[in-house]
Amino acid sequence: MSISSVIKDIKGRLDGKVAIITGAGSGIGFESAVLFAREGADIIAADVNLKSAEAVVERIKEKFPLKSFNRRAVAYKVDVSKEEEVKKLVEFTLKEFGKLNIMFNNAGIMHPHDDNCLNTDEKVWDLTMNIFLKGVWYGCKYAIEAMRKNNNPKGGSIINTASFVGLMGAATPQIAYTASKGAVIALSRELAVTHARECIRVNSLCPGPLHTPLLMDFLNTDEKKNRRLVHLPMGRFGEPIEQAQAALFLASDESSYVTGTEFKVDGGLTAAYVTPE
Ligand code: NAD
Repeated sequence: MSISSVIKDIKGRLDGKVAIITGAGSGIGFESAVLFAREGADIIAADVNLKSAEAVVERIKEKFPLKSFNRRAVAYKVDVSKEEEVKKLVEFTLKEFGKLNIMFNNAGIMHPHDDNCLNTDEKVWDLTMNIFLKGVWYGCKYAIEAMRKNNNPKGGSIINTASFVGLMGAATPQIAYTASKGAVIALSRELAVTHARECIRVNSLCPGPLHTPLLMDFLNTDEKKNRRLVHLPMGRFGEPIEQAQAALFLASDESSYVTGTEFKVDGGLTAAYVTPE
């Protein structure tokens, strides 16, 4: 057998699957969209910032030119905190692509005025909850409806981006963000159990602190960065591609017996008492 025929026979890990990724315009979502496309999925790159969603689609087309890339990637503008918009996103996907196999509910913000319990404004609380908690709920609700109709393979994979702060406390508080991420973990676990027999898997991805605009804009001084770095066993922030690799596993059939987990990709942060000098 020649090398070229072997290469031709190698299938992508997401071949034939259709994936919605929210927050696809930046950070984890951006890297996941490119990686999922490389592995054979059709991509609906959804973001509130349409320009950034279009940029990821451009990147996909640039990296995988038409002759080798017969999947499709489209940009879609959505505000995940609006139920009607999320419903339309899933309807669009079913109309254009015929099915939905992977829903990656990943969009997010980090509000600069999200602070401790005493001085966080209700508006900040509500905005954060609307994007993270309601946004994930809406994404799951319409994805489950769509995945129930899937045959061959049956069901699908839902990945909800939570955070290490849903699992451990921090004396650098962001009370609304933390509470919303804890809720995302609880919601994901319950959905995993409820829908397990329909072959719909639901996992939460729990990243550690990352080198993405979301956190780096928030930690805008060396002092703020170092306050966190000392607690990281690996002594560095994670990279978005390291989350995308984990999301790829959860999205693919390789994780067919994985559901209801808090999938930690945190450089050992949640395992550490004292970190190396
Ligand atoms: P990022 O800022 O790089 O990307 C977030 C994307 O979400 C942006 O493109 C933004 O436009 C989009 N977005 C924001 N609000 C939206 C809305 N209402 N509707 C649709 N899209 C919206 O952030 P990231 O670091 O890649 O974060 C992605 C996810 O990972 C978030 O859920 C975040 O909470 C989580 N997370 C991040 C870190 C970190 O350190 N960066 C750690 C743990 C968890």
